[in-house]
Amino acid sequence: MIKEILKYNDIFVSNGSYKSFASNKYPQKRLAILTCMDTRLVELLPAALGIHNGDVKLIKNAGGIILDPFDNTIRSLLIAVLELGVEEIMVIGHTDCGAAVISPETIIAHLIQRGIDRETVRGLKEDGLDFEAWFKGFENTEAAVEKSVSLLKNHPLMPANVEIQGFVMDITCGRLDSVS
Ligand SMILES: [Zn+2]
Repeated sequence: MIKEILKYNDIFVSNGSYKSFASNKYPQKRLAILTCMDTRLVELLPAALGIHNGDVKLIKNAGGIILDPFDNTIRSLLIAVLELGVEEIMVIGHTDCGAAVISPETIIAHLIQRGIDRETVRGLKEDGLDFEAWFKGFENTEAAVEKSVSLLKNHPLMPANVEIQGFVMDITCGRLDSVS
């Protein structure tokens, strides 16, 4: 697939197809969105929100959640706020999320199946890697979004005038429901 993509990319560039995407690094809408890496959101989310190239900082991970107050997601949001002019943040979870149903036990079983040594897993656990926290799913998407929103609102490095709101998107139709 990467080979095919590289071929497509050559044509895209040589055709000048990039010209309609011209923009800069400062988000026109002064908005950052944290959401899930779900494949169904790749085009649905921007379309359902009416956002285009240059409009927003879009940060994605599995579940669209924040695991730890000093993780890479928070870092990205702080850079967006402090360096790139973001004034509002939307945290958007979604229905039928694949990251909600993961479990540390299953992930570890899959690691072993894929040839990772049990000793490696055990060693990392002993060194302090918390598999339970790292690969924990969530039963309630609204609660997971609320938790991330609360973590952001109460973050010691987040300026108080940043507007932060949480939502769940219905993956079947793109409707946003407010959760906070
Ligand atoms: Zn998801």
